[in-house]
Amino acid sequence: MPKSSLNPPKESALIPLPLEKDTEHLAQQLAMALKALFEQNPSTCVHIDLVGDLGAGKTTLTRYLLNSLGHIGKVKSPTYALCEPYEISIHGALISVHHFDLYRMTYPKEWIDAGFRDAFSQPGICLVEWPEKAEGTLSATDLTIQMDADFAHSAQEHGNRSAKLLSWSDVGHQLLDLMKLS
Ligand code: ADP
Ligand code: MG
Repeated sequence: MPKSSLNPPKESALIPLPLEKDTEHLAQQLAMALKALFEQNPSTCVHIDLVGDLGAGKTTLTRYLLNSLGHIGKVKSPTYALCEPYEISIHGALISVHHFDLYRMTYPKEWIDAGFRDAFSQPGICLVEWPEKAEGTLSATDLTIQMDADFAHSAQEHGNRSAKLLSWSDVGHQLLDLMKLS
């Protein structure tokens, strides 16, 4: 759900991601922006939605993002658990990161019944794959990352990959500015 349906989002240009290292680079830019944001204010609350078909690269981007934020070790796909929690350190402050994958939810409020409502109101970062499955029951998002692989119209085995970022709030606009995408 966008933060305000009254204000149109700010949009990045289409970012081509032909190689996985391009997705890694995008994740590094987002990690740098998040670090700058949390350095200014460690109690910031950031909600980022990752939108796109299966195989578009949402989990891959999240893996690179968590690694760029300093997480060492595996990043499991949270498809069956709904959410995998992490703790990272930004300039000495511990920041919680919740990585959601709502694809297998059987009803929109399952994430609430699973005990995750507080994740969106406490300081930290929520990354949400398949937010559409929650049918508007999630808190408003700050940033939407739309990922596309367009397998149908590509001669390449890995598709014609790209991403576009849309920011909906002051926090989202700040992140987009800090990422210096163009
Ligand atoms: P999703 O979470 O959107 O369903 P995944 O990230 O799980 O997608 O899967 C994307 C797959 O595509 C991974 O196996 C990844 O290694 C591969 N891949 C190939 N090229 C890219 C790229 N440029 N960006 C992201 N993933 C890529
Ligand atoms: Mg995924």
